[in-house]
Amino acid sequence: MLAERLPGLLPDLGDHESMEVTAIHSLCGLPASQVQLLRRPPFENPHHSATAAAIIGGGSGLPRPGAASRAHRGVLFLDEAPEYERRVLDALRQPLESGELVIHRSAGTAAYPARFQLVLAANPCPCGKAAGKGLDCTCTPVMRRRYLARLSGPLLDRVDIQLQVERVSLAEFGQAAAEEDTAAVAGRVLEARARQSERLRCFGLETNSQVPGRILRGELRLTPAATRILDLSLERGVLTARGYDRVLRLAWTLADLGHREAPGPDDIGQALGLRQAAAVAA
Ligand SMILES: [Zn+2]
Repeated sequence: MLAERLPGLLPDLGDHESMEVTAIHSLCGLPASQVQLLRRPPFENPHHSATAAAIIGGGSGLPRPGAASRAHRGVLFLDEAPEYERRVLDALRQPLESGELVIHRSAGTAAYPARFQLVLAANPCPCGKAAGKGLDCTCTPVMRRRYLARLSGPLLDRVDIQLQVERVSLAEFGQAAAEEDTAAVAGRVLEARARQSERLRCFGLETNSQVPGRILRGELRLTPAATRILDLSLERGVLTARGYDRVLRLAWTLADLGHREAPGPDDIGQALGLRQAAAVAA
């Protein structure tokens, strides 16, 4: 449910983005007369039984875009992520770095944009009952480890937020109405997006997710006091160099949401905590 709400939090697509997204969708076989200019960020949730070509792109003849490219500028949601083919999960690493999917086939090579927000959901074990006290779970520790190990380290290194979601009790479920609605949160996201695009305009960029490491650690460098905990994690080998940059991007977003000029030690600490929450809990 959280993953499906995510596109609703994203701002409308601008003219350029809208053209880009519409062009990709029109390549996917819809007759031109049925293609309308898409203004909302797309949401794609291919099933784990879908072929690699359907998710990543490919097929016979000239490679066509897959769900990952149709999710460009939107959200790609993989439910029960460990159930997907290993080569599909591994192929997602490329677009998570470059925002592009290059598909090689004998008929030729095609490059399609694929800059999406990836949401992966996984049960704690194959039977799915290990959450909470896990009393009903019948899986052995080896089965659980093997199941979660299907999500490779290099893929998870590119995932910025890892959350352990506890089972919702009936009492908590009844209180949910008191929470903020999607429109209120979308307003805050819009504001935070405006702050970052203003700051990044001089680099020709729009969102924190697009900022390359050299700018994060160069023009946008933070004080040593702010990055201390991050520097320590890198030194101790708890964090990869890629992870270091990813924590910085997330910290900038937290600062933008909190109307702060730049991330302080608290933003960095929170970003690091969000990245490692599930790993620590496991
Ligand atoms: Zn189980």
